[in-house]
Amino acid sequence: MSEGIVTASYIGATVLFILALGGLSNQETSRRGVMYGMAGMAIALIVTMASVTANMGILIGGLVIGGAIGVVLAKRVQMTEMPELVAILHSLVGMAAVLVGFANFMDPGRLEHYAGVELTIHDIETYLGILIGAITFSGSVIAFGKLSGKMSGNPLMIPGRHFINLGLLLGSIYLCMMFVDQSAAGGGFMPLLIMTGIALLFGIHMVMAIGGADMPVVVSMLNSYSGWAASATGFMLNNDLLIVTGALVGSSGAILSYIMCRAMNRKFISVIAGGFGTTTGGSSAGADVDQGEVVALEAPEVASLLAEAKEVMIIPGYGMAVAQAQHIVCEITKALKAKKVNVRFGIHPVAGRMPGHMNVLLAEARVPYDIVYEMEEINDDFPNIDVSVVIGANDIVNPSALTDPDSPIAGMPVLECWKGTTTIVLKRGMATGYAGVQNPLFFEDNTRMLFGDARASLDAVFKNL
Ligand code: NDP
Repeated sequence: MSEGIVTASYIGATVLFILALGGLSNQETSRRGVMYGMAGMAIALIVTMASVTANMGILIGGLVIGGAIGVVLAKRVQMTEMPELVAILHSLVGMAAVLVGFANFMDPGRLEHYAGVELTIHDIETYLGILIGAITFSGSVIAFGKLSGKMSGNPLMIPGRHFINLGLLLGSIYLCMMFVDQSAAGGGFMPLLIMTGIALLFGIHMVMAIGGADMPVVVSMLNSYSGWAASATGFMLNNDLLIVTGALVGSSGAILSYIMCRAMNRKFISVIAGGFGTTTGGSSAGADVDQGEVVALEAPEVASLLAEAKEVMIIPGYGMAVAQAQHIVCEITKALKAKKVNVRFGIHPVAGRMPGHMNVLLAEARVPYDIVYEMEEINDDFPNIDVSVVIGANDIVNPSALTDPDSPIAGMPVLECWKGTTTIVLKRGMATGYAGVQNPLFFEDNTRMLFGDARASLDAVFKNL
Protein backbone atom coordinates (compact mmCIF):
# COMPACT_ATOMS: atom_id res chain seq x y z
CA MET A 1 0.00 0.00 0.00
CA SER A 2 1.36 3.44 -0.90
CA GLU A 3 2.62 5.66 1.89
CA GLY A 4 0.13 8.38 0.90
CA ILE A 5 -2.88 6.10 1.41
CA VAL A 6 -1.48 4.88 4.74
CA THR A 7 -0.99 8.47 5.97
CA ALA A 8 -4.45 9.57 4.79
CA SER A 9 -6.07 6.53 6.44
CA TYR A 10 -4.20 7.18 9.68
CA ILE A 11 -5.44 10.78 9.70
CA GLY A 12 -8.98 9.52 9.04
CA ALA A 13 -8.71 7.03 11.91
CA THR A 14 -7.34 9.74 14.22
CA VAL A 15 -10.29 12.03 13.40
CA LEU A 16 -12.68 9.14 14.11
CA PHE A 17 -11.00 8.52 17.50
CA ILE A 18 -11.38 12.19 18.41
CA LEU A 19 -15.05 12.09 17.37
CA ALA A 20 -15.41 8.92 19.47
CA LEU A 21 -14.09 10.68 22.57
CA GLY A 22 -16.38 13.64 21.89
CA GLY A 23 -19.35 11.28 21.53
CA LEU A 24 -18.53 9.41 24.73
CA SER A 25 -18.66 12.60 26.77
CA ASN A 26 -22.46 12.58 26.68
CA GLN A 27 -24.97 9.76 27.23
CA GLU A 28 -27.12 10.75 24.27
CA THR A 29 -24.22 10.62 21.82
CA SER A 30 -22.26 7.76 23.40
CA ARG A 31 -23.54 5.05 21.05
CA ARG A 32 -22.46 7.15 18.09
CA GLY A 33 -19.10 7.67 19.83
CA VAL A 34 -18.60 3.91 20.14
CA MET A 35 -19.42 3.49 16.44
CA TYR A 36 -16.83 6.12 15.49
CA GLY A 37 -14.27 4.34 17.67
CA MET A 38 -15.01 0.97 16.06
CA ALA A 39 -14.77 2.43 12.56
CA GLY A 40 -11.46 4.13 13.42
CA MET A 41 -10.04 0.92 14.86
CA ALA A 42 -11.17 -1.10 11.83
CA ILE A 43 -9.41 1.36 9.48
CA ALA A 44 -6.28 1.32 11.66
CA LEU A 45 -6.13 -2.48 11.68
CA ILE A 46 -6.80 -2.95 7.97
CA VAL A 47 -4.31 -0.29 6.86
CA THR A 48 -1.61 -1.48 9.26
CA MET A 49 -2.02 -5.05 8.05
CA ALA A 50 -2.04 -4.02 4.41
CA SER A 51 1.20 -2.08 4.84
CA VAL A 52 3.06 -4.99 6.43
CA THR A 53 5.19 -6.89 3.95
CA ALA A 54 6.73 -9.73 5.97
CA ASN A 55 5.52 -12.35 8.46
CA MET A 56 1.89 -12.09 7.38
CA GLY A 57 1.16 -15.55 8.77
CA ILE A 58 2.29 -14.60 12.28
CA LEU A 59 0.26 -11.38 12.11
CA ILE A 60 -2.94 -13.13 11.03
CA GLY A 61 -2.36 -15.90 13.59
CA GLY A 62 -2.01 -13.27 16.35
CA LEU A 63 -5.12 -11.45 15.18
CA VAL A 64 -7.21 -14.61 15.10
CA ILE A 65 -6.06 -15.77 18.56
CA GLY A 66 -6.39 -12.31 20.14
CA GLY A 67 -9.73 -11.66 18.43
CA ALA A 68 -11.12 -15.03 19.54
CA ILE A 69 -10.10 -14.42 23.16
CA GLY A 70 -11.68 -10.96 22.97
CA VAL A 71 -14.99 -12.29 21.61
CA VAL A 72 -15.21 -15.05 24.23
CA LEU A 73 -14.41 -12.62 27.06
CA ALA A 74 -16.90 -10.02 25.83
CA LYS A 75 -19.66 -12.60 25.57
CA ARG A 76 -18.98 -14.12 28.99
CA VAL A 77 -18.28 -11.10 31.13
CA GLN A 78 -21.01 -9.99 33.52
CA MET A 79 -21.69 -6.26 33.85
CA THR A 80 -20.43 -6.45 37.46
CA GLU A 81 -17.10 -7.87 36.23
CA MET A 82 -16.44 -5.04 33.77
CA PRO A 83 -14.13 -3.05 36.08
CA GLU A 84 -11.74 -5.96 36.57
CA LEU A 85 -11.91 -6.80 32.85
CA VAL A 86 -10.92 -3.23 32.03
CA ALA A 87 -8.05 -3.47 34.54
CA ILE A 88 -6.71 -6.70 33.06
CA LEU A 89 -6.99 -5.30 29.52
CA HIS A 90 -4.87 -2.32 30.63
CA SER A 91 -2.27 -4.81 31.84
CA LEU A 92 -2.07 -6.27 28.31
CA VAL A 93 -1.27 -2.84 26.85
CA GLY A 94 1.51 -2.50 29.42
CA MET A 95 2.86 -5.97 28.66
CA ALA A 96 2.79 -5.21 24.91
CA ALA A 97 4.87 -2.07 25.50
CA VAL A 98 7.44 -4.07 27.52
CA LEU A 99 7.69 -6.82 24.89
CA VAL A 100 7.92 -4.37 21.99
CA GLY A 101 10.61 -2.47 23.94
CA PHE A 102 12.75 -5.58 24.42
CA ALA A 103 12.20 -6.71 20.83
CA ASN A 104 13.23 -3.26 19.69
CA PHE A 105 16.36 -3.35 21.82
CA MET A 106 17.34 -6.81 20.58
CA ASP A 107 16.75 -5.90 16.92
CA PRO A 108 20.10 -6.69 15.23
CA GLY A 109 19.64 -3.76 12.81
CA ARG A 110 19.33 -1.22 15.65
CA LEU A 111 22.96 -0.06 15.60
CA GLU A 112 22.93 0.07 11.78
CA HIS A 113 19.85 2.31 11.60
CA TYR A 114 20.69 4.64 14.45
CA ALA A 115 23.88 6.37 15.57
CA GLY A 116 24.88 9.30 17.79
CA VAL A 117 22.05 11.51 19.03
CA GLU A 118 19.45 9.50 17.09
CA LEU A 119 20.52 6.34 18.89
CA THR A 120 20.34 8.09 22.26
CA ILE A 121 16.79 9.33 21.49
CA HIS A 122 15.77 5.88 20.28
CA ASP A 123 17.22 4.28 23.43
CA ILE A 124 15.40 6.71 25.71
CA GLU A 125 12.14 5.96 23.85
CA THR A 126 12.72 2.25 24.38
CA TYR A 127 13.63 2.76 28.04
CA LEU A 128 10.56 4.92 28.76
CA GLY A 129 8.28 2.54 26.85
CA ILE A 130 9.42 -0.40 28.95
CA LEU A 131 9.29 1.65 32.17
CA ILE A 132 5.72 2.89 31.64
CA GLY A 133 4.64 -0.48 30.25
CA ALA A 134 5.98 -2.43 33.24
CA ILE A 135 4.37 -0.06 35.77
CA THR A 136 1.06 -0.30 33.88
CA PHE A 137 1.30 -4.08 33.67
CA SER A 138 1.97 -4.87 37.33
CA GLY A 139 -0.25 -2.02 38.62
CA SER A 140 -3.16 -3.25 36.50
CA VAL A 141 -2.73 -6.84 37.67
CA ILE A 142 -2.95 -5.67 41.30
CA ALA A 143 -5.95 -3.45 40.44
CA PHE A 144 -7.58 -6.53 38.86
CA GLY A 145 -7.00 -8.47 42.10
CA LYS A 146 -8.46 -5.69 44.22
CA LEU A 147 -11.48 -5.00 42.02
CA SER A 148 -12.38 -8.67 41.64
CA GLY A 149 -12.14 -9.23 45.39
CA LYS A 150 -9.27 -11.72 44.99
CA MET A 151 -7.13 -9.38 47.12
CA SER A 152 -8.01 -7.14 50.04
CA GLY A 153 -9.09 -3.66 48.91
CA ASN A 154 -7.39 -2.04 51.93
CA PRO A 155 -4.37 0.18 51.29
CA LEU A 156 -1.02 -1.36 52.23
CA MET A 157 0.90 1.22 54.21
CA ILE A 158 4.56 0.13 54.32
CA PRO A 159 6.57 2.37 56.70
CA GLY A 160 8.77 4.78 54.72
CA ARG A 161 6.88 4.03 51.51
CA HIS A 162 7.45 7.50 50.09
CA PHE A 163 11.21 7.01 50.51
CA ILE A 164 10.95 3.60 48.83
CA ASN A 165 9.18 5.26 45.88
CA LEU A 166 11.79 8.01 45.75
CA GLY A 167 14.59 5.40 45.83
CA LEU A 168 12.97 3.46 42.97
CA LEU A 169 12.64 6.67 40.94
CA LEU A 170 16.28 7.68 41.48
CA GLY A 171 17.40 4.12 40.71
CA SER A 172 15.49 4.22 37.40
CA ILE A 173 17.12 7.52 36.39
CA TYR A 174 20.60 6.15 37.18
CA LEU A 175 19.90 2.93 35.25
CA CYS A 176 18.69 4.99 32.28
CA MET A 177 22.08 6.75 32.13
CA MET A 178 23.89 3.39 32.37
CA PHE A 179 21.68 1.93 29.66
CA VAL A 180 22.24 4.81 27.22
CA ASP A 181 26.03 4.67 27.84
CA GLN A 182 26.31 0.91 27.33
CA SER A 183 23.84 0.70 24.44
CA ALA A 184 26.14 2.52 21.97
CA ALA A 185 28.77 -0.19 22.59
CA GLY A 186 26.24 -2.94 21.91
CA GLY A 187 25.42 -3.63 25.60
CA GLY A 188 22.79 -2.30 28.00
CA PHE A 189 20.70 -5.42 28.54
CA MET A 190 21.36 -5.66 32.31
CA PRO A 191 20.35 -2.07 33.22
CA LEU A 192 17.22 -2.53 31.08
CA LEU A 193 16.35 -5.78 32.83
CA ILE A 194 16.97 -4.38 36.34
CA MET A 195 14.88 -1.30 35.54
CA THR A 196 12.04 -3.57 34.33
CA GLY A 197 12.14 -5.36 37.70
CA ILE A 198 12.11 -2.01 39.54
CA ALA A 199 9.20 -0.73 37.43
CA LEU A 200 7.22 -3.92 38.08
CA LEU A 201 7.82 -3.52 41.83
CA PHE A 202 6.86 0.16 41.65
CA GLY A 203 3.55 -0.67 39.89
CA ILE A 204 2.71 -3.26 42.55
CA HIS A 205 3.64 -0.97 45.44
CA MET A 206 1.81 2.02 43.97
CA VAL A 207 -1.53 0.25 43.56
CA MET A 208 -1.18 -1.74 46.80
CA ALA A 209 -0.86 1.56 48.68
CA ILE A 210 -4.10 2.92 47.25
CA GLY A 211 -7.25 1.40 48.51
CA GLY A 212 -10.84 1.61 49.59
CA ALA A 213 -12.73 4.57 48.27
CA ASP A 214 -9.72 5.87 46.28
CA MET A 215 -9.88 2.92 43.84
CA PRO A 216 -11.84 4.85 41.15
CA VAL A 217 -8.79 7.06 40.68
CA VAL A 218 -6.61 3.95 40.24
CA VAL A 219 -8.88 2.70 37.46
CA SER A 220 -8.79 5.99 35.55
CA MET A 221 -5.06 6.49 36.25
CA LEU A 222 -4.15 3.06 34.85
CA ASN A 223 -6.35 3.85 31.87
CA SER A 224 -4.20 6.92 31.35
CA TYR A 225 -0.94 4.96 31.84
CA SER A 226 -2.05 2.37 29.29
CA GLY A 227 -2.48 5.21 26.79
CA TRP A 228 1.02 6.54 27.44
CA ALA A 229 2.39 2.99 27.18
CA ALA A 230 0.71 2.64 23.76
CA SER A 231 2.09 6.02 22.75
CA ALA A 232 5.60 4.97 23.78
CA THR A 233 5.14 1.79 21.72
CA GLY A 234 4.21 4.03 18.78
CA PHE A 235 7.50 5.92 19.16
CA MET A 236 9.45 2.65 19.26
CA LEU A 237 7.68 1.34 16.15
CA ASN A 238 7.67 4.69 14.34
CA ASN A 239 3.91 4.42 14.05
CA ASP A 240 2.23 7.86 14.09
CA LEU A 241 -1.27 6.49 14.60
CA LEU A 242 -0.25 4.56 17.70
CA ILE A 243 1.47 7.67 19.09
CA VAL A 244 -1.62 9.84 18.58
CA THR A 245 -4.11 7.20 19.75
CA GLY A 246 -2.02 6.50 22.84
CA ALA A 247 -1.81 10.21 23.60
CA LEU A 248 -5.61 10.52 23.23
CA VAL A 249 -6.19 7.65 25.67
CA GLY A 250 -3.45 8.93 27.99
CA SER A 251 -4.77 12.47 28.18
CA SER A 252 -8.45 11.52 28.41
CA GLY A 253 -7.56 9.09 31.22
CA ALA A 254 -5.66 11.89 32.97
CA ILE A 255 -8.67 14.21 32.64
CA LEU A 256 -10.92 11.44 34.00
CA SER A 257 -8.55 10.96 36.97
CA TYR A 258 -8.78 14.69 37.65
CA ILE A 259 -12.60 14.58 37.45
CA MET A 260 -12.69 11.57 39.80
CA CYS A 261 -10.38 13.30 42.29
CA ARG A 262 -12.50 16.43 42.21
CA ALA A 263 -15.66 14.35 42.70
CA MET A 264 -14.07 12.73 45.74
CA ASN A 265 -12.48 15.93 47.01
CA ARG A 266 -9.02 14.32 46.89
CA LYS A 267 -5.74 15.70 45.59
CA PHE A 268 -4.43 13.60 42.71
CA ILE A 269 -0.91 13.57 44.07
CA SER A 270 -2.09 12.41 47.50
CA VAL A 271 -4.00 9.54 45.92
CA ILE A 272 -1.19 8.26 43.71
CA ALA A 273 1.40 8.72 46.43
CA GLY A 274 -0.77 6.26 48.34
CA GLY A 275 -2.52 7.23 51.49
CA PHE A 276 -1.24 10.80 51.78
CA GLY A 277 -4.01 12.62 53.63
CA THR A 278 -6.05 9.50 54.27
CA THR A 279 -6.53 7.70 57.55
CA THR A 280 -6.20 4.01 58.16
CA GLY A 281 -9.69 3.57 59.49
CA GLY A 282 -10.54 5.79 62.40
CA SER A 283 -13.47 5.55 64.69
CA SER A 284 -16.23 5.35 62.12
CA ALA A 285 -14.67 2.55 60.18
CA GLY A 286 -15.75 0.07 62.79
CA ALA A 287 -18.91 -1.70 61.86
CA ASP A 288 -19.26 -2.81 65.50
CA VAL A 289 -20.07 0.61 66.98
CA ASP A 290 -23.67 0.59 68.23
CA GLN A 291 -25.48 3.19 66.15
CA GLY A 292 -29.06 2.47 67.24
CA GLU A 293 -31.98 0.63 65.67
CA VAL A 294 -32.94 0.34 62.04
CA VAL A 295 -36.56 0.32 60.92
CA ALA A 296 -37.44 -2.23 58.25
CA LEU A 297 -40.42 -2.04 55.89
CA GLU A 298 -42.05 -4.58 53.56
CA ALA A 299 -42.59 -4.12 49.82
CA PRO A 300 -46.31 -3.14 50.03
CA GLU A 301 -45.49 -0.29 52.43
CA VAL A 302 -42.69 0.92 50.15
CA ALA A 303 -45.06 0.80 47.17
CA SER A 304 -47.64 2.94 48.93
CA LEU A 305 -45.00 5.45 50.09
CA LEU A 306 -43.87 5.78 46.46
CA ALA A 307 -47.38 6.02 45.05
CA GLU A 308 -48.28 8.80 47.50
CA ALA A 309 -45.11 10.80 46.84
CA LYS A 310 -44.85 13.76 44.48
CA GLU A 311 -41.06 13.87 44.21
CA VAL A 312 -39.00 10.66 44.13
CA MET A 313 -35.21 10.44 43.80
CA ILE A 314 -33.66 7.10 42.89
CA ILE A 315 -30.02 6.64 43.94
CA PRO A 316 -28.45 3.56 42.35
CA GLY A 317 -25.22 2.02 43.59
CA TYR A 318 -23.07 -1.05 43.15
CA GLY A 319 -25.80 -3.35 44.56
CA MET A 320 -28.09 -2.43 41.65
CA ALA A 321 -25.40 -3.73 39.30
CA VAL A 322 -24.98 -6.93 41.36
CA ALA A 323 -28.72 -7.55 41.43
CA GLN A 324 -29.13 -6.54 37.75
CA ALA A 325 -32.11 -4.52 38.93
CA GLN A 326 -31.91 -1.74 36.33
CA HIS A 327 -34.77 -3.09 34.16
CA ILE A 328 -37.25 -3.34 37.00
CA VAL A 329 -36.14 0.13 38.16
CA CYS A 330 -37.11 1.41 34.72
CA GLU A 331 -40.53 -0.32 34.95
CA ILE A 332 -41.18 1.22 38.37
CA THR A 333 -40.18 4.62 37.01
CA LYS A 334 -42.73 4.29 34.20
CA ALA A 335 -45.44 3.14 36.64
CA LEU A 336 -44.79 6.09 38.96
CA LYS A 337 -44.72 8.57 36.08
CA ALA A 338 -48.11 7.25 35.01
CA LYS A 339 -49.29 8.19 38.52
CA LYS A 340 -47.90 11.72 37.97
CA VAL A 341 -45.00 11.21 40.38
CA ASN A 342 -41.88 13.18 39.36
CA VAL A 343 -39.10 10.57 39.35
CA ARG A 344 -35.46 11.51 38.93
CA PHE A 345 -32.15 9.67 39.28
CA GLY A 346 -29.19 11.03 41.23
CA ILE A 347 -25.84 9.64 40.10
CA HIS A 348 -22.73 9.88 42.21
CA PRO A 349 -19.52 10.04 40.11
CA VAL A 350 -17.96 7.05 41.93
CA ALA A 351 -21.11 4.93 42.25
CA GLY A 352 -20.54 1.29 41.28
CA ARG A 353 -17.10 0.04 40.38
CA MET A 354 -16.09 2.02 37.32
CA PRO A 355 -16.57 5.54 36.01
CA GLY A 356 -20.02 5.86 34.42
CA HIS A 357 -21.11 2.42 35.71
CA MET A 358 -24.63 3.52 36.70
CA ASN A 359 -25.16 5.56 33.53
CA VAL A 360 -24.33 2.50 31.42
CA LEU A 361 -26.78 0.30 33.33
CA LEU A 362 -29.59 2.87 33.16
CA ALA A 363 -28.96 3.43 29.45
CA GLU A 364 -29.10 -0.36 28.92
CA ALA A 365 -32.52 -0.41 30.62
CA ARG A 366 -33.57 2.57 28.49
CA VAL A 367 -34.21 4.98 31.36
CA PRO A 368 -34.72 8.38 29.65
CA TYR A 369 -31.52 10.47 29.83
CA ASP A 370 -33.33 13.66 30.79
CA ILE A 371 -34.31 12.35 34.24
CA VAL A 372 -30.77 11.19 35.08
CA TYR A 373 -28.83 13.88 36.97
CA GLU A 374 -25.27 14.23 38.19
CA MET A 375 -24.78 14.66 41.94
CA GLU A 376 -23.88 18.34 41.75
CA GLU A 377 -27.01 19.09 39.71
CA ILE A 378 -29.48 17.69 42.24
CA ASN A 379 -27.81 17.61 45.65
CA ASP A 380 -29.51 20.84 46.74
CA ASP A 381 -32.96 19.46 45.85
CA PHE A 382 -33.15 16.83 48.59
CA PRO A 383 -35.12 18.99 51.09
CA ASN A 384 -37.95 18.95 48.47
CA ILE A 385 -37.82 15.19 47.91
CA ASP A 386 -40.62 13.08 49.44
CA VAL A 387 -39.00 9.67 48.99
CA SER A 388 -35.40 8.80 48.09
CA VAL A 389 -34.84 5.18 47.08
CA VAL A 390 -31.25 4.04 47.64
CA ILE A 391 -30.74 0.89 45.57
CA GLY A 392 -27.67 -1.06 46.69
CA ALA A 393 -25.68 2.09 47.39
CA ASN A 394 -23.75 2.69 50.58
CA ASP A 395 -20.56 4.80 50.55
CA ILE A 396 -22.05 7.39 48.19
CA VAL A 397 -24.87 8.20 50.66
CA ASN A 398 -22.79 8.03 53.84
CA PRO A 399 -23.25 11.22 55.93
CA SER A 400 -20.11 10.47 57.96
CA ALA A 401 -18.08 11.58 54.90
CA LEU A 402 -19.24 15.10 55.81
CA THR A 403 -19.34 14.86 59.58
CA ASP A 404 -16.49 12.58 60.69
CA PRO A 405 -12.99 13.88 59.90
CA ASP A 406 -11.52 10.47 60.91
CA SER A 407 -13.56 8.56 58.35
CA PRO A 408 -11.60 6.99 55.46
CA ILE A 409 -14.06 8.75 53.13
CA ALA A 410 -13.91 12.10 54.99
CA GLY A 411 -14.37 15.03 52.66
CA MET A 412 -15.94 13.04 49.82
CA PRO A 413 -19.14 14.77 48.67
CA VAL A 414 -22.13 12.41 49.00
CA LEU A 415 -25.77 12.44 47.92
CA GLU A 416 -27.50 14.07 50.91
CA CYS A 417 -30.71 12.05 50.77
CA TRP A 418 -31.29 12.22 54.56
CA LYS A 419 -32.39 15.83 54.03
CA GLY A 420 -35.55 14.59 52.27
CA THR A 421 -38.76 13.45 54.00
CA THR A 422 -38.13 9.68 53.82
CA THR A 423 -35.22 7.55 52.62
CA ILE A 424 -35.73 3.90 51.71
CA VAL A 425 -32.55 1.82 51.54
CA LEU A 426 -32.57 -1.47 49.62
CA LYS A 427 -29.83 -3.91 50.59
CA ARG A 428 -29.49 -7.50 51.70
CA GLY A 429 -28.16 -6.98 55.22
CA MET A 430 -26.13 -4.51 57.23
CA ALA A 431 -22.83 -5.07 55.38
CA THR A 432 -20.60 -2.08 54.75
CA GLY A 433 -19.79 -0.77 51.27
CA TYR A 434 -16.51 -0.87 49.34
CA ALA A 435 -14.73 1.52 51.74
CA GLY A 436 -15.63 -0.72 54.70
CA VAL A 437 -17.28 2.11 56.65
CA GLN A 438 -20.49 1.76 58.66
CA ASN A 439 -23.23 4.09 57.47
CA PRO A 440 -25.16 6.24 59.99
CA LEU A 441 -27.80 6.92 57.31
CA PHE A 442 -29.38 3.52 58.03
CA PHE A 443 -30.07 4.59 61.62
CA GLU A 444 -31.59 8.01 60.87
CA ASP A 445 -35.19 8.58 62.08
CA ASN A 446 -36.48 9.12 58.55
CA THR A 447 -34.71 6.09 57.03
CA ARG A 448 -36.50 2.82 56.32
CA MET A 449 -34.76 -0.39 55.20
CA LEU A 450 -36.13 -2.83 52.64
CA PHE A 451 -33.96 -5.91 53.13
CA GLY A 452 -33.32 -8.44 50.37
CA ASP A 453 -31.78 -8.73 46.93
CA ALA A 454 -32.55 -5.43 45.18
CA ARG A 455 -34.15 -7.11 42.16
CA ALA A 456 -36.43 -9.37 44.22
CA SER A 457 -37.40 -6.42 46.46
CA LEU A 458 -38.16 -4.17 43.48
CA ASP A 459 -40.13 -6.92 41.73
CA ALA A 460 -42.32 -7.09 44.84
CA VAL A 461 -42.65 -3.29 45.01
CA PHE A 462 -43.65 -3.20 41.33
CA LYS A 463 -46.35 -5.84 41.83
CA ASN A 464 -47.77 -3.77 44.69
CA LEU A 465 -47.73 -0.59 42.66
P1 NDP B 1 -20.84 0.34 47.92
O1 NDP B 1 -19.85 -0.66 47.53
O2 NDP B 1 -20.48 1.39 48.89
O3 NDP B 1 -22.14 -0.39 48.52
C1 NDP B 1 -22.85 -1.32 47.80
C2 NDP B 1 -23.93 -1.90 48.70
O4 NDP B 1 -24.76 -2.70 47.88
C3 NDP B 1 -23.37 -2.80 49.78
O5 NDP B 1 -23.44 -2.17 51.04
C4 NDP B 1 -24.23 -4.08 49.72
O6 NDP B 1 -24.84 -4.30 50.99
C5 NDP B 1 -25.29 -3.74 48.67
N1 NDP B 1 -25.59 -4.85 47.79
C6 NDP B 1 -24.72 -5.69 47.20
N2 NDP B 1 -25.37 -6.60 46.46
C7 NDP B 1 -26.68 -6.31 46.57
C8 NDP B 1 -27.86 -6.90 46.03
N3 NDP B 1 -27.84 -7.97 45.23
N4 NDP B 1 -29.04 -6.33 46.36
C9 NDP B 1 -29.09 -5.27 47.19
N5 NDP B 1 -28.02 -4.68 47.74
C10 NDP B 1 -26.82 -5.20 47.41
O7 NDP B 1 -21.38 0.98 46.56
P2 NDP B 1 -21.59 2.50 46.15
O8 NDP B 1 -22.06 2.46 44.74
O9 NDP B 1 -22.41 3.22 47.17
O10 NDP B 1 -20.15 3.15 46.23
C11 NDP B 1 -19.11 2.77 45.35
C12 NDP B 1 -17.84 2.47 46.12
O11 NDP B 1 -16.94 1.76 45.26
C13 NDP B 1 -17.14 3.73 46.57
O12 NDP B 1 -16.48 3.50 47.79
C14 NDP B 1 -16.13 3.93 45.45
O13 NDP B 1 -15.03 4.71 45.86
C15 NDP B 1 -15.73 2.51 45.17
N6 NDP B 1 -15.17 2.28 43.82
C16 NDP B 1 -15.71 2.92 42.75
C17 NDP B 1 -15.15 2.77 41.49
C18 NDP B 1 -15.68 3.58 40.34
O14 NDP B 1 -14.94 3.82 39.40
N7 NDP B 1 -16.93 3.98 40.37
C19 NDP B 1 -13.99 1.86 41.26
C20 NDP B 1 -13.57 1.17 42.47
C21 NDP B 1 -14.14 1.40 43.69
P3 NDP B 1 -25.35 -5.77 51.40
O15 NDP B 1 -24.22 -6.70 51.20
O16 NDP B 1 -25.77 -5.62 52.82
O17 NDP B 1 -26.50 -6.09 50.50
